Amino acid sequence: MKLYNTLTRTKEEFVPLEEGKVKMYVCGPTVYNYIHIGNARPFIIFDTLRRYLEYRGYDVTYVQNFTDVDDKIIKRGHEEHISPEEVANKYIEEYFEDADGLGIKRANVHPRVTDNIQEIIAFVKELEDKGYAYEVNGDVYFDTKKFEGYGKLSKQNQDDLEAGARIEVNSQKRHPMDFVLWKSKKEGEPGWQSPWGEGRPGWHIECSVMSNRYLGETIDIHAGGQDLAFPHHENEIAQSEAKSGKTFSNYWVHNGYININNEKMSKSKGNFFTVRDISNSYDLEIVRFFMLSAHYRNPVNFSDEMLTQAKTALERLYNAKEKLEFTISNLQESSITEDEKSLAIELDGFRAKFINAMEDDINTADAISVIFELSRFINTNVDEKSSLEFAKKCLDEFNELTSVLNIVNKKNDDMLDEEIENLIQKRVDAKKNKDFKLADDIRQELLDKGIILEDTRQGTKWKRA
Ligand SMILES: [Zn+2]
Repeated sequence: MKLYNTLTRTKEEFVPLEEGKVKMYVCGPTVYNYIHIGNARPFIIFDTLRRYLEYRGYDVTYVQNFTDVDDKIIKRGHEEHISPEEVANKYIEEYFEDADGLGIKRANVHPRVTDNIQEIIAFVKELEDKGYAYEVNGDVYFDTKKFEGYGKLSKQNQDDLEAGARIEVNSQKRHPMDFVLWKSKKEGEPGWQSPWGEGRPGWHIECSVMSNRYLGETIDIHAGGQDLAFPHHENEIAQSEAKSGKTFSNYWVHNGYININNEKMSKSKGNFFTVRDISNSYDLEIVRFFMLSAHYRNPVNFSDEMLTQAKTALERLYNAKEKLEFTISNLQESSITEDEKSLAIELDGFRAKFINAMEDDINTADAISVIFELSRFINTNVDEKSSLEFAKKCLDEFNELTSVLNIVNKKNDDMLDEEIENLIQKRVDAKKNKDFKLADDIRQELLDKGIILEDTRQGTKWKRA
């Protein structure tokens, strides 16, 4: 598989550290509000990368943090007269609700900063002991001049960076690019005891510490939005590599920006949408489908019109799947015919094309095109004269490819409990009337929809497969 590595500005062959295993870290949300549509993009993209790697047989360990101590969280707490912890707890829950709607799988670990304070202190202490960090009045800074590789991700040298740096009034820093690792406690802020007095971590240090703690000193993939590449990821590299003397991450993957109606998203322009806002008008699967319809490195333009288009396109896929399922439900048990054998080879070609697209730097846009081609192929080649074996093969492939992207996965005919109960009653009646054919047909109909029946002395029980 080829992945575009921001570190080298080229598409590189992906080779994991350890065969068959992938260690992946994605920068997570600061939990002071609902996630917005710009946050949603990387979470959807990197969830898809993970799913694809898993589809290809890799054992992926996926870590995504929650920034649960931060100025914005403290401010929100003051506004709402609740503790920063309560703010964070609330928005972590809300994150999961949105993520579930967007079809984003849970990470293996979702570490929180406040659960890693001792690890952060130890990490900063080690940087200080090694001469990469210095303390001024209870604040600890990273000395960027001491780390030779500073600027390697953003491809900027120290002098250019300094020339562009904002002059900070009364700065205690030795050099303009130095950044804070530990901040001394101010009135009304949460704080933890440390060798430098009471305080709290700076932002960048948390990802270095949590990546190191849960994945080790060197990982395979570190990912996030393009806006994080500098300074956040540059600083993560500096901290991690200064401490370990080893490469922090072999691949750096960044997704492009999102515009709203062709303008940069900003609160002041009033074009700021949370995922929750959007979920009032659209099923969030449409948002996922929309995000995957573009290449992840390109900017995307988000608008009502685009979402409506995505909705129509996604519906076409659902319709294709439903039609196929309906055809299958009417077919008798039958093996693949001679004529269908060449079609079956053609069918396999779609899988190969899909994989090719995904292998090329997760080109989900092309992968989705392949799924549309597949649905046209099915439309043309599966009907009431098809063999059941071939029709099922088509459905299996359709489900296999859509499940990698985690789209078209809702059972549109998701049966309500009531419908199931009614059919079970119909089957009980059929058995009483000794109409065993009807009873068996009902059992099969339910089974096709993933409902398993179990006849017990207390009556018929059912469960979803
Ligand atoms: Zn991060």
